[in-house]
Amino acid sequence: MKKELVVVIDFGGQYNQLVARRVRECNVYCEIYSYKTDLAKIKAMNPKGIILTGGPNSCYEEGAATCQTELFEMGIPVLGLCYGAQLMNLVLGGKVERAAAREYGKTEVKVDNSSPLFTGVSENTICWMSHNDYISKMAPGFRAVAVTDNCPVAAAECAEKNLYSIQFHPEVLHTVEGSKMLYNFVRNICGCSGDWRMDSFVEEQVKAIREKVGSGRVLCALSGGVDSSVAAVLLSKAVGEQLTCVFVDHGLLRKNEGDEVEEVFGPKGSYELNFIRVNAQERFYEKLAGVDEPERKRKIIGEEFIRVFEEEAKKIGAVDFLVQGTIYPDVVESGLGGESAVIKSHHNVGGLPDYVDFKEIIEPLRDLFKDEVRKVGLELGIPEHLVFRQPFPGPGLGIRIIGEVTAEKVKIVQDADAIYREEIANAGLDKSINQYFAALTNMRSVGVMGDERTYDYAVALRAVNTVDFMTADAAQLPWEVLQKVTSRIINEVGHVNRVLYDCTSKPPGTIELE
Ligand code: GLN
Repeated sequence: MKKELVVVIDFGGQYNQLVARRVRECNVYCEIYSYKTDLAKIKAMNPKGIILTGGPNSCYEEGAATCQTELFEMGIPVLGLCYGAQLMNLVLGGKVERAAAREYGKTEVKVDNSSPLFTGVSENTICWMSHNDYISKMAPGFRAVAVTDNCPVAAAECAEKNLYSIQFHPEVLHTVEGSKMLYNFVRNICGCSGDWRMDSFVEEQVKAIREKVGSGRVLCALSGGVDSSVAAVLLSKAVGEQLTCVFVDHGLLRKNEGDEVEEVFGPKGSYELNFIRVNAQERFYEKLAGVDEPERKRKIIGEEFIRVFEEEAKKIGAVDFLVQGTIYPDVVESGLGGESAVIKSHHNVGGLPDYVDFKEIIEPLRDLFKDEVRKVGLELGIPEHLVFRQPFPGPGLGIRIIGEVTAEKVKIVQDADAIYREEIANAGLDKSINQYFAALTNMRSVGVMGDERTYDYAVALRAVNTVDFMTADAAQLPWEVLQKVTSRIINEVGHVNRVLYDCTSKPPGTIELE
């Protein structure tokens, strides 16, 4: 049976990932393509529906991202969101202009729920707006089906042609009934049956990987993180011992982490693959000696990682494929896959390859979001502690230690962090706080322990709540938990005489990403 597909056309909006994600939450498979993609190619995919995303341009300006009229004439339902809504109306003969008052943020909207787009949606509902331009004249055949105080066309439809446009962003959670609107579009208007599941993803990937790899050899750099673990297991399931995983222990992992990874993927674990662990701790500490500038530390760790991996790869000899645990946000953030501006270069994307002798890269998770990767991980039977591992940056503890990294400081922060994590779990908070860890400030101060003067380090505790890791609030940890963690760290970890809690939100602070 052919899989039902919804195509999301990317005009560079910042919430595009979310559009794809909401569609998949309706159990409908969807893929994102640039607006530059040839229309014939999109048509050939035979999508059940098309969604046009938001975007930074003003559609009436010269050189703005655009689309062909034919897009709306293929008989395929189209939903335009924000920029997409404006563009749809402009291309079909309406008018878009700069608004006197721009709308940004939570906005009350009045919807006409006789529109199939708004079936089951409250008449007055809250939406999320983010626009400067507005549809000043709808395209012929359209009628307005939602308004706000400032926006006469907050949504419009030409129901007989199955064309819909929404000025606000149903894909963000702030639009309270947004998911319902997208569900209405993909399930009711496009008529998708909603039979897509994560397990079909596993099955399809395993099949596709087998076809691609044949009897070839595959190499994977395993970090123990969620993405590379899931990618490795997927590959192992598909091609078994044709896969070799190299795990570099750089000595900047959390307490016992190296052994935990080995337990799962090593010879005693339950997967069919060749596992190589490289204990390169000393090498990394040597390179890091005397370095305290954070960017330099990152660079050194990244480069040394590549060197170690390269040495191992040379021992293995030529391979046919290299696996990378790239996931969709990596692709978007690096500006490789989508139309959005480049936010940062990402270590997962495009960085590794040229020093290893291989023919092709395999990125089986390239289209998935983090939570989808986790679902696949569970589907594949990967232990929960790995699947729900918190994002942990590549340079690891190297950047949680402020100032110079030494073996002694690594031990301090590992022990403090382990205590902190244990107590968070004991308090039953491990699932509800999105990210928490201990860091070692480079600050020492005088204290007194057992009547003796001490001059030791301060450990800082961080805990944040975030939905998408773009913004975050400091978690309000119960005082008793903080007290318990503090006294345990001071009592059990040498060279620490002070524990601090970081109350900074993001922005202005930041949090760790993988
Ligand atoms: N750039 C357009 C505007 O300002 C569309 C914005 C968007 O898609 N979020 O109205």
